[in-house]
Amino acid sequence: MRSFAENLDLYARVAAQVGVNVHKGQRVYISAQLQGAEFVRRLVRESYAAGAYDVFVDWHDDRVSLIRYLHAPAEALADVPQWLVAMRETLVDQRAAYIAVHAPTPNLFKDVDPQRLASATRALSKALKKSNEDRVTRTNWLIVSPASPQWAAQVYPDASPDQALEQLWEDVFRLCRIDQEDPIAAWREHSADLAQRADFLTRCAIKTLHYEGPGTDLVLELPKGHVWRGGGGTSESGAQYVPNMPTEEVFTLPKRDGVNGTVRATMPLNYNGVTVENIRLELRNGEIVKYAADSGYETLRTIIETDEGSRRLGEAALVSQDSPIARSGRLYYNTLYDENASCHLAIGRAYATSLAGGQDMSEDELLAAGANQSMTHVDFMIGSDELDVTAEAWDGKKVPILHKGRWAFQV
Ligand code: ZN
Ligand code: ZN
Repeated sequence: MRSFAENLDLYARVAAQVGVNVHKGQRVYISAQLQGAEFVRRLVRESYAAGAYDVFVDWHDDRVSLIRYLHAPAEALADVPQWLVAMRETLVDQRAAYIAVHAPTPNLFKDVDPQRLASATRALSKALKKSNEDRVTRTNWLIVSPASPQWAAQVYPDASPDQALEQLWEDVFRLCRIDQEDPIAAWREHSADLAQRADFLTRCAIKTLHYEGPGTDLVLELPKGHVWRGGGGTSESGAQYVPNMPTEEVFTLPKRDGVNGTVRATMPLNYNGVTVENIRLELRNGEIVKYAADSGYETLRTIIETDEGSRRLGEAALVSQDSPIARSGRLYYNTLYDENASCHLAIGRAYATSLAGGQDMSEDELLAAGANQSMTHVDFMIGSDELDVTAEAWDGKKVPILHKGRWAFQV
């Protein structure tokens, strides 16, 4: 048995070496929340150990954000300073590695007017749109979520604060494969398996995907030239990296005007600290024509009504129900974990990298090729033990992809 400190060191090492894969002489930018400080300090040390030139930590505090959302003038919430935009663009120009250490406090923003929250989120994604897109296609990046007391209290509400935190750390280590004998080797093997599944699906040349489950009967057309991704990416300099830890998904994009039918979420969505339960959508020719939720409807509405593209889907991701997160059967109120528990779809923007050559296409070219454009990208979970997904290829062949929520093909 390793001690907690040893596990935390290993977690930081895996994040630096396999996750973002810091390379020699590279600058590293870490956007971090205060609750993750103990992990962040180790991450800085491991980044230097991996050869970082310089590591810059940009600290954030959720409670300061709450005060701002409640008290700042409405204009200020929608006014992103130019220096922030310039900083992010400079980091991409310098090909800095980007790490987000996301330690959320669930429901912290529940008393903030959803319109104010939405306007701040929209302004920030608009201002950072270019640097975020460039970062994804040009550099290596990573999102991780270490356990925090606030998060643990939400996941384990009946345990004492100490027990809840201990239990959540145990989960984080297990779900991120830190409990394996050699976590770095385990990660390399796991990401290779996902990459092989993604390659198989790309070679299938799928025309449509049919999702069938309780409350779900949805047909997704996939655009010509779509590419399935999984198990990580390659930065412009050729470095392999795994941008999400944990990751269990293989994903591509639906054709923006080619989605028809109904779909029901199988897990609540936690967005901006608000929980949206039992989302139901109806889509026609790619557009969400009806939507409902049992709670958090206003939040769902602000997501769907962000802009023209937020009425359409931009991602279709497959996760087998035998992934460690799905097996845990627990809701983590944290998209990074929950999206890897389950097949999901995203409302909003498609990743340019989901199309062959997409990263070199203009916005108009992406739209013409069927890739949805929006300022937002919000995943919602639709996987379960009752979900079947069947593909139909361009040659008419039917290929079972998931049966009762599990992979139905071998690689
Ligand atoms: Zn995804
Ligand atoms: Zn997504």
